Amino acid sequence: MIENQVKKTLRKTGVNKKEKILVAVSGGKDSAVTAYLLSKFGYNIRGFHIDLKIGDYSEKCKNAVVELCRQLGISLIIYDIKKEMGSGMCYLRSAVQSRKKTEIKNCAICGVIKKWIFNKEARKLKADKIATGHNLDDESQTFLMNLFKGSPELSANIGVITENTSNKKFIPRIKPLFYIAEEDIRKYSRQKKLPVVYEKCPCALDSYRIQVREFTEKLSEKEKVNVVRNFERLREKFRKKESEINYCRICGEPSRNQVCRKCGLMQ
Ligand code: SF4
Ligand SMILES: [Zn+2]
Repeated sequence: MIENQVKKTLRKTGVNKKEKILVAVSGGKDSAVTAYLLSKFGYNIRGFHIDLKIGDYSEKCKNAVVELCRQLGISLIIYDIKKEMGSGMCYLRSAVQSRKKTEIKNCAICGVIKKWIFNKEARKLKADKIATGHNLDDESQTFLMNLFKGSPELSANIGVITENTSNKKFIPRIKPLFYIAEEDIRKYSRQKKLPVVYEKCPCALDSYRIQVREFTEKLSEKEKVNVVRNFERLREKFRKKESEINYCRICGEPSRNQVCRKCGLMQ
């Protein structure tokens, strides 16, 4: 069931088996299943792991991805955030939080920094696509959060593939598990005995997402699929407004504004 749905989703992304895909492997179940299935279906993949240096948790995650890539027979690139950016994620995010007047959640900061790293490093590695483990629950929550905040246009780039064909510096991102519910992924990863860290990240803190998650947990899988499918239809309306991409004047990465979100947080 999962396998057939993921095959269909991959067809929808248009990715082909010759393209070089960098899979963002975190040590968690979602990215492990993503890498496992892409490898099983014969895609040309490599693993890319950001070692966030969040104490023991990061050590466990790193060991899990090393083992996963060994089992799959794929190469793995480990990006050490302390070496590359001078500090671990805990320090980076508290520095941002103490500088900014408005409250910014841990996961929001971490997410922006990770996205920036993935794009930059994927380009250096000449990857054609980045694959992430985002699942149906993540996506329906994000769509609803943006809707509840009154900014549905923020969902414009959410879908099975996020790309900007006119901007070569932006590496398209695919989400093979877009239509798969989190619980099914958990069961599948256990059934396949994948090396996975099931415990939660100790820095996970996004109270609004937790509230929305409590709400979406009451929805059936069919209802969650309806949420994402309806947003996919609406997305085209917002896309035209969102298509213009510039380059950040600080780091040179693709950005909708003069300064990208990562540099906006870090300066
Ligand atoms: S749970 Fe939040 S803080 Fe932890 S790795 Fe994920 S995005 Fe970063
Ligand atoms: Zn920048």
